[in-house]
Amino acid sequence: METTGECRCGRITMELTAEPLLTFQCHCDGCQKMMASAFSLTAKVPAEGFRVITSEPVLSGLQTGPAHYYCPHCKSCLFSELPGQESVVNLRMTLFEGLKSYPPFIEVFLSEKLPWVQPSAPRQYQRAPAPDEMADLIIDYAKWQERTA
Ligand SMILES: [Zn+2]
Ligand SMILES: [Zn+2]
Repeated sequence: METTGECRCGRITMELTAEPLLTFQCHCDGCQKMMASAFSLTAKVPAEGFRVITSEPVLSGLQTGPAHYYCPHCKSCLFSELPGQESVVNLRMTLFEGLKSYPPFIEVFLSEKLPWVQPSAPRQYQRAPAPDEMADLIIDYAKWQERTA
């Protein structure tokens, strides 16, 4: 994978040179508000395969827990870093041309989804997978990607 991404105004440009480890669709209330949309689409990628090329993202969201980075000008939500998970970054998929064709493998927080949304991902959770399921999910995602590629 080699693709670039940008925010709404184009001041922030980013580069991704690694395949996603996992793709998510999150229906939680927090994502609905942050994205002003029905759900968020996220690709978990290795941190060493991702970099910001131009401009400086700023912290936004709740500013506690996960660090959510935004464009300081257009306020697009760009990516998130989770405490204790320094080796990965969670990218907002729709900003990257190369990620637009990647469907979500897991859907989380279905308990908070909007009533008209029809879940379609192969793995579905009322809340989130347990932290110790993550390694297996990454393996299963890689197999699923091979099948659907
Ligand atoms: Zn921007
Ligand atoms: Zn969420």
